[in-house]
Amino acid sequence: MAGMYGNSDDRCAACGEMLSGAYYALIDRPERYCARCIATRPRCAACGAPIGDQYWQLHDGRLHCPACHQVAIYDPDVARAVFDETVAAVAAHLGMTLNVGVAFRLVDAPTLAALRAEGRSASPEDERTLGLYQRRGHVRVIYMLYGLPRLAFRTTVAHEYAHAWQAERCPLLRDEELREGHAEWVAYHHLLALGCTRAAERMLIAHHPYRPALERVLALERQLGVKGVITYMTRAE
Ligand SMILES: [Zn+2]
Ligand SMILES: [Zn+2]
Ligand SMILES: [Zn+2]
Repeated sequence: MAGMYGNSDDRCAACGEMLSGAYYALIDRPERYCARCIATRPRCAACGAPIGDQYWQLHDGRLHCPACHQVAIYDPDVARAVFDETVAAVAAHLGMTLNVGVAFRLVDAPTLAALRAEGRSASPEDERTLGLYQRRGHVRVIYMLYGLPRLAFRTTVAHEYAHAWQAERCPLLRDEELREGHAEWVAYHHLLALGCTRAAERMLIAHHPYRPALERVLALERQLGVKGVITYMTRAE
């Protein structure tokens, strides 16, 4: 790999070729890539980096780069422990508790896509769904994609848990932007509570479809405070 050649900064992290002229990089990552690798190589399903010689293939076809593989959650027991931790942290920090609670399932990409297609009108998410909250009658479940890097797993759980909370506390809320903005805001505060300030700041500059919605709720927070936002949500329609 590139590191063997000494100054790895001068070489493409995927193919090891010398970089001449334009190169590409991902936000907050030191690796650089040549134009050909950016154009032609398959991408890591988690971070979008071009896949090099070393990679992992998941049984549903997703590919992971070594960096994402190292922090990915594959084991259902580990996933459940991190899920429980995240839910407990959100409930404690933001006072967002549930009466009924919500079950947890770790699923692969095709299963998540099928669930999403079924419940499309209930909770529309962007096309690369990482998690999903669904309620069928009395059964409430958060489905999470297996193999997510730990931090992406946590923020997605926090986001979906917010939807579970909304289903209990503001079931009549129709304002789609407010629902997604609040869910993103919960994920944002979870990152801050974990001390992951850089990841939280990234949410404020990312080109994400929910960013304007997040900004709307952050503006509410500046007006009402954290507890005020929670109270506001329970009264919103
Ligand atoms: Zn290359
Ligand atoms: Zn990756
Ligand atoms: Zn959502």
